[in-house]
Amino acid sequence: MAYEKEQQIALQAAAAAAQLCEKVRAEKLSNAIEKPDESPVTIADYGSQAMICRVLAEAFPDDPIVGEEDATLLQKPDMAACLAQVTEMVSEYVPGTTSEKIIEWVGRGKGESAQRFWTLDPIDGTKGYVRGDQYAIALALIEDGEVKVGVVGSPAMPVDFANPEAGRGVFFVAVRGEGAKMYAMDLKPIRDLKVNDASKKADFRLVQSVEKAHGTPTEQEAAAKAVGITADPFCMDSLGKYGAIARGEADLYLRLPSGKYLNRKENIWDHAAGVVVLEEAGGKVSDRHGNPLDFTQGSTLAKNTGIVASNGVLHDDIIQALEASAAAAV
Ligand code: AMP
Ligand code: MG
Repeated sequence: MAYEKEQQIALQAAAAAAQLCEKVRAEKLSNAIEKPDESPVTIADYGSQAMICRVLAEAFPDDPIVGEEDATLLQKPDMAACLAQVTEMVSEYVPGTTSEKIIEWVGRGKGESAQRFWTLDPIDGTKGYVRGDQYAIALALIEDGEVKVGVVGSPAMPVDFANPEAGRGVFFVAVRGEGAKMYAMDLKPIRDLKVNDASKKADFRLVQSVEKAHGTPTEQEAAAKAVGITADPFCMDSLGKYGAIARGEADLYLRLPSGKYLNRKENIWDHAAGVVVLEEAGGKVSDRHGNPLDFTQGSTLAKNTGIVASNGVLHDDIIQALEASAAAAV
């Protein structure tokens, strides 16, 4: 099987980070600190990035990692208590961890993209994490601009939203050309992932962010309606949304920049792992104009505008509907 070592290491690293994130939340240490860009970060974001970068550095020493967090803030004197907490938390999983090691591992996640590199969001949906809702750990391997391996860890996501008794905590894993699979928190395989086909059309559903400011709910819901979606939208934080489409609980996810965020470019770590999971489950992902996502532009999708992720069946229709609504707005 292709990329077997990469997939195994990525899954193990994400699983270890998921344990840490769940422990930090259970111990009520998941309060947010505001970063200079006003986005939130917690000790679990740093702990997760440190643990994953440590494992990747050991297994694939030549691979750069383009991650969300940066060790600069963590080294500031007023962050000393936070650094000490991160060090203590990671030490429970990696005995002998020092604050110097934390800085080194987190810092390793600020690499440059290359012909082959990893991209990491140690906690995607930090606002959901702090609120007690969904969040994800996202790790992907990109080679020649194509996402080859993706792991989306969703520790708080039910195995089946319709049957919450069936347990909670899943990993969505895909290797390009080899399909996508869902694993349980103990890493036992649950099942292959497959999007809904046209026979389920009457029940197709939009999935969108809980945080209204991260999208344009009115425009998203109007576009969904234009392609015949009648069900109420399903709201969840993080790129677990890609997993929800991959396993048939949702069918369409739109991220359409507008207003003061019109020129915002998406970060690669917020999408890469979800893209390969969804594509390997039979879905489709593009930007709002139907162009493929370009992962060769550094840490952002600088050449793309917005994101359209779908079960594939309604992809062309939704792109047409978005183009028509953009033309009508001019
Ligand atoms: P979600 O859980 O889907 O709301 O997405 C969380 C992600 O939203 C974070 O990783 C942020 O990078 C991203 N984000 C923050 N602000 C915005 C914004 N104004 N527009 C789109 N995405 C945003
Ligand atoms: Mg994120």
